[in-house]
Amino acid sequence: MTTLPEIQQIEKRIRDLGTTVKSEVLAYSEDKALRFPIYKITFGSEDPQAPVLGFVGGVHGLERIGAQVCVALMNSLAELTVWDQTLQSTLKNIRVFFIPTVNPIGIYRKTRSNPRGVDLMRNAPVDGDQPARWVGGHRVSSRLPWYRGVEGAPMEVEAQAMVKAVQDEIRHSPLALTLDLHSGFGFQDRLWFPYAKTVKPFPDLPMTYSLKNLLDRTYPHHFYRVEPQAQSYTTHGDLWDYIYDEHLKTADRQQKYLPLCLEMGSWMWVKKNPWQIFRSDGPFNPLKGHRHRRTLRRHNTLMEFLIRAVASPQAWANMNGEQEKEWALKAQELWYGTK
Ligand SMILES: [Zn+2]
Repeated sequence: MTTLPEIQQIEKRIRDLGTTVKSEVLAYSEDKALRFPIYKITFGSEDPQAPVLGFVGGVHGLERIGAQVCVALMNSLAELTVWDQTLQSTLKNIRVFFIPTVNPIGIYRKTRSNPRGVDLMRNAPVDGDQPARWVGGHRVSSRLPWYRGVEGAPMEVEAQAMVKAVQDEIRHSPLALTLDLHSGFGFQDRLWFPYAKTVKPFPDLPMTYSLKNLLDRTYPHHFYRVEPQAQSYTTHGDLWDYIYDEHLKTADRQQKYLPLCLEMGSWMWVKKNPWQIFRSDGPFNPLKGHRHRRTLRRHNTLMEFLIRAVASPQAWANMNGEQEKEWALKAQELWYGTK
């Protein structure tokens, strides 16, 4: 049977961990003879009201490194759960989940879109403010990249599976963070926060600034550029905009949710190895062995930081009114050039 190395690794890990981990198949991505499961693996507290951290990868199949980093992080966390007593006790209070291969057929065929030609990150029922003509999403043809799908149609199987799983995880949680792993833009690793649909500030700017501040203080030499996604480009149909806005509508005011995207700066890899531009997956992945291995371990500190941040909300997420005002001002100044 045809499969993917990433899925084999996930299945091996599920077998090895047995009942100490919760695993499920959210849906199957299918096309002709291909049928790949979309797995979710969950560690830690089963209390719906526990703080939650989620990692997602492989939404854009061509950006395979995102799925691979997600699997690498999951594997490291899995090993730590076996012997690290500090983590074991942290996981009594929080939950960490992984959905590493949202678009497995896209990974298999090295396509950005799903098997029906839809760009999943343009597929949510969200309209952006004047995004770029093609890149921002269009409804012209599934043969062209960045296709949103038919207006009014339900979201694609892969998008629905991921959206529902994340919504179920964050519904009753007081604090939730998700990190979606992508590659292909710029020379630097960026941590993008909402919105993708508009350059206007999103409601949780103070909390986002507070998290950035915590990251800067804890790891002053980190290499992430934290910024709103729309500063790079605006799009229609971003799944995280959709999940965030739906959560805002239904959740309690005290329930906080911050969706982040890690956009790995793939131009660094191309700059060091210009020939790879001639391969379809070249612009989006580190192809040299040593660079690939370096990328797989590059974000371990970020995962550990996010686990600690979710487990210790008093350090950044529980702000009083005054603090919130102060962070809002600083965030406006830093990211929007206004006070
Ligand atoms: Zn992407």
